[in-house]
Amino acid sequence: MKRELIEPFFATLKAANPSPQSELEYTTVFELLAAVLLSAQATDVSVNKATRKLFPVANTPQAILALGQDGLESYIKTIGLFRSKAKHLMQACRILVERHGGEVPNTREALEALPGVGRKTANVVLNVAFGQPTMAVDTHIFRVSNRTGLAPGKTPLAVELALMQRVPPEYAVDSHHWLILHGRYVCLARKPQCYRCAVAAYCDFTPKTTG
Ligand code: SF4
Repeated sequence: MKRELIEPFFATLKAANPSPQSELEYTTVFELLAAVLLSAQATDVSVNKATRKLFPVANTPQAILALGQDGLESYIKTIGLFRSKAKHLMQACRILVERHGGEVPNTREALEALPGVGRKTANVVLNVAFGQPTMAVDTHIFRVSNRTGLAPGKTPLAVELALMQRVPPEYAVDSHHWLILHGRYVCLARKPQCYRCAVAAYCDFTPKTTG
């Protein structure tokens, strides 16, 4: 994708959805962190279903610790990999209480030091909760960035760094939402729906699908 097409690409996505939101449900920074940690290799829908029951009972590190491993597992057992996720979340909560006064830290280093929190999760929290222009490259962003020619790269990190360079500053904070939603609903993995794609004019992918 030529550099001059990147601005209209994002302007078009923005016009269709001016305030994109995460599809994970949360009301506090800790809830966001917990939801993103639970969402690895699981759908947002499955995570929301579990957290709708969990968060009213426990939505702080202290309250999660009070549930205990078994108690926590009983709320999240419908989510894939729930045992290891429960273990990681318990360990992360302990660190949050011991080192951060029960608050979620706002630096990459401190976030990535939490069990179960990798670069992608840290990027989501830094972006969504703290408004930093990070790029959390998931499977959708990886595919859309490569397919369109927006930010090609062989690894998620290469795509992340390319996006950081190529996305205009005014779109940087929200861009990862637009790319995820575009990948989830239009530029589908098996068959992109180019025939109903608002940004087809800017995309390198050929031949475009026609239905
Ligand atoms: S034109 Fe097709 S390949 Fe390109 S972004 Fe749209 S759906 Fe994806």
